[in-house]
Amino acid sequence: MIPTAADLPKPSSLFREFTGPLTRELVQEPGEFGLGKVPARLKPDATAKLVCGFCSTGCSLNAHLREGRAINLTPATEYPVNLGMACPKGWEALTPLTAPNRATTPLIRDTSGRLQAASWDEAMTTFVSRLRAIQAKHGPGSVAWLGTGQICTEELAFLGALGKFGIGILHGDGNPRQCMATSVVAYKQSFGFDAPPYTYQDFEESDVIVLIGSNLCIAHPIMWQRVLRNRNNPEIIVIDPRKTETAMAATQHLPLAPKSDLVLLYGIANLLIQNGWIDETFIGTHTNGFNEFAGHVRQFTPDTVAVQTGLTVAQLYRFAESIHRGKAVSFWWTMGVNQGHESTRTAQAIINLALMTGNIGRAGTGANSITGQCNAMGSRLFSNTTNLLGGHDFLNAGHRAKIAGALGIPVERIPQQNSFAYDQIMDAIERGEIKALWLIATNPAHSWVNQRSVPAAFRKLELLVVQDMFNDTESVAHADIVFPAAAWGEKEGTFINSERRIGVVKKVAVAPGQALSDFNIFRLVANYWGCEMMFREWTSPEAVFQIMKRCSAGQPCDITGIDGYEMLDAVGGIQWPFSSEQCSVIGNRSEQSAGGGRSPGSTDHCKLITDHFPNERRLFADGRFHHADGRARFIFEAPKAPPECKDAEFPFELLTGRGTSAQWHTQTRTRCSAVLRRLHPEELYVELNPDDAQRLGVGPNGRVRITSRRGSLEATAFLTPTVRPGQIFLPMHYEAVNRLTHPAVDPYSRQPSYKHCAVRVKRR
Ligand code: SF4
Repeated sequence: MIPTAADLPKPSSLFREFTGPLTRELVQEPGEFGLGKVPARLKPDATAKLVCGFCSTGCSLNAHLREGRAINLTPATEYPVNLGMACPKGWEALTPLTAPNRATTPLIRDTSGRLQAASWDEAMTTFVSRLRAIQAKHGPGSVAWLGTGQICTEELAFLGALGKFGIGILHGDGNPRQCMATSVVAYKQSFGFDAPPYTYQDFEESDVIVLIGSNLCIAHPIMWQRVLRNRNNPEIIVIDPRKTETAMAATQHLPLAPKSDLVLLYGIANLLIQNGWIDETFIGTHTNGFNEFAGHVRQFTPDTVAVQTGLTVAQLYRFAESIHRGKAVSFWWTMGVNQGHESTRTAQAIINLALMTGNIGRAGTGANSITGQCNAMGSRLFSNTTNLLGGHDFLNAGHRAKIAGALGIPVERIPQQNSFAYDQIMDAIERGEIKALWLIATNPAHSWVNQRSVPAAFRKLELLVVQDMFNDTESVAHADIVFPAAAWGEKEGTFINSERRIGVVKKVAVAPGQALSDFNIFRLVANYWGCEMMFREWTSPEAVFQIMKRCSAGQPCDITGIDGYEMLDAVGGIQWPFSSEQCSVIGNRSEQSAGGGRSPGSTDHCKLITDHFPNERRLFADGRFHHADGRARFIFEAPKAPPECKDAEFPFELLTGRGTSAQWHTQTRTRCSAVLRRLHPEELYVELNPDDAQRLGVGPNGRVRITSRRGSLEATAFLTPTVRPGQIFLPMHYEAVNRLTHPAVDPYSRQPSYKHCAVRVKRR
């Protein structure tokens, strides 16, 4: 039984005891809680280093300050991620902060249906009273939140703990479900923990780089630069139906039929086995289930695979031989795999190739999932949605007791069940079970699959609360209450990037108007809800970082060896795990090599650790995985047909993906920049093969109508052979695109299948 808010002490009895700086009274004096200030620790005209807030690469940027505020950004040269590089989004990251559509004051929708400016006190009082009323009437399952991979890890941890342990919300998920859930489940099942094994240095040390469903040039341009720094003249193999920018630069491009990846990967596994191109010692010592897997893939002969994938037998052999010849083969995947109807098994088919060839735990190898958002990895471990804080399990009594102890809360406050996933939350809204929804830094009215279903679902809610830095997103249009949030650069915290590196975000600008950091909004909610005593230790992001450390102790993601933000800054971010034991070992080794004599914790000792810090660390060098027996698992399943195939009525296959490196997701931020807007077409365009265009009578830049079973849109035709006849491509960033997409989800990760559905195309 989940306790409800009614079980908690009432606010009035707690205000006097609450010693934190952010109380109801102080909200009326904004200057008191940092609204008009950047932290004193930043010198007024210095340079502050902070991790970029767009993608998961996690580049470090130097913010150049004048009178304590950032006026300019340049890429950090000494940071081990980006080595002095940044993509256009990074250079322009300050621009959205001064956009005219920033949310600057709380808003409440009045009885005439208009959003009206309100005070924080009015907004919080309304939020709490309406949420309490809904919970009291319909139970704890009637309220949900949908979060994000865009806010700091400490904020995600606060939201997750506040939502589930404080307010008693049963169901919370985040938008990483749309991009990363597949990798989480695939790693958990195969390795025993959600543990991407690589470091970016592997891009430079492979001699064979296999990219599956990843347009690295565009989606992760700085990672692509790391590939270009590789001195091994690597074979670059791109598996993608489209001839993407990355495919154009590859040594092998395998333009397989959409959603035939699983068949291809099983076919390659079979070829490797039949030719004896496997690492039997690694398989025998470090894995389980290989014989069953080998039996499963025997049916995927080169001839059958060629028919089903549209590739030639020669292409299959060349691919398999390249893996065999490679001394260090790395396999990388991202959304082209993750956003599919059988995505978890496809990701695991990639993991299987790495395991069976012993390409893991060594430099230049790995089965490597690349993340999307700047802090999807923080969300994966600490958002308290898909798992209990610190990569624990809500269903495990021991884990619940450990986390309750680490937080100093009664164990009964921790739910004994998992949340609904994002799609299940949306379905529960449709069914009328969930009556109130709190959105934090996400915009499902644009980004959710089969978009037309979203407004209909929102209309069924009794309360929709949107917490966002902008006041005009598609989701704000449906909101009853809006909380104005500070943006990246206006607050502190940490992000975790794709290679597990924890980096620091700093406050180098002042949030406009009454906007508050998400962290302080959560503190306000705790205060108004009356559960602030539960969070009396959660006084600042860095204080929460110390709580996260406690939660991580003994886990594969143990970060107990990180002192705090200064240490992260000093060594260029730290990849998890970094336990207190690892820290001691490095300290002792450093001391020995320097002749000893420094006392632990002294400045000299810290500098020594910094100088000797191993800043490119990969997992599984010892061949031990996180299952109880230390072995990885071969996991497989028969491929399934896509949920919607092309037919006479809808004869085209729609592919979706990133458009340019100047665009980010729903464009709420990138469209603020005149520079970035010049780097991509303003209007929605569709890539159409010239043969199809001729057949349809469509000329260059002609207008076409594209229709799926769920909706339709108009776009300008860009005639290009990058898509094959019978296929079209739409960039995901434009609001109309999700009118078309299919709502199927992978059964294990519940990640939507954005990448593929059937459409028809007509000339306008
Ligand atoms: Fe920022 Fe990603 Fe560009 Fe690096 S590659 S500057 S992290 S958006």
